[in-house]
Amino acid sequence: MVGIGYDMHRLEIGEKLILGGIEIESEIGTVAHSDGDVLLHSIIDAILGAAGMGDIGEHFPDTDIRYKGYSSVEMTKKIMNLLVNKGLKLVNIDAVVVLEKPKLLPYKNMIKIKIAEICNLPKERVNIKATTNEGLSYIGRGEGIVVHSICQIENVRN
Ligand code: MG
Repeated sequence: MVGIGYDMHRLEIGEKLILGGIEIESEIGTVAHSDGDVLLHSIIDAILGAAGMGDIGEHFPDTDIRYKGYSSVEMTKKIMNLLVNKGLKLVNIDAVVVLEKPKLLPYKNMIKIKIAEICNLPKERVNIKATTNEGLSYIGRGEGIVVHSICQIENVRN
C-alpha cells in the first residue's frame, strides 16, 4: 500500500526550524503548536494514509494542550508503533521539501539518518529531496515551507 502526505507551516523570524528531527541553522523557523517539524508531519500523514489510519490531526489534535511544543520525533515513533501493532512495516519513504532558504544540502544526510533511525528503515530506503520555489509565491518570499511525501508499506507476513 502507498500513502501521500502534505504539510505546510508559516515561517517567522526567531522561530526554530526543525526538519526530520534535526535543527537547521536558520534566521526563520516554523510557527506551530508542536515543534513544527513539517517534514515529519508530512511523513506521518503518508504513513497513516498507507495504513488507512486517518491523519495526523486525528491522532494529535492541535487543540490538545498535551501536544503543545510536542516532539514530532515522539509523534512519529507513536505512529510507527501503531503500524507495527497492525502487522505492517514501512518499505520506503520519499519526500520533497520546498523551501527558499536556507539550503538543506549540508543537512540532508543527517536528516536521512535520523528518519531512518526513527522509522526502523535502512538509510537508503529514506530519500529526502530539497527544492526552492524559484522565488515565487509565499514559499518564494520565505513566508512558508511545504513538504510533500510518499511512502510504501507492506504486511509483515508477505
Ligand atoms: Mg504540521
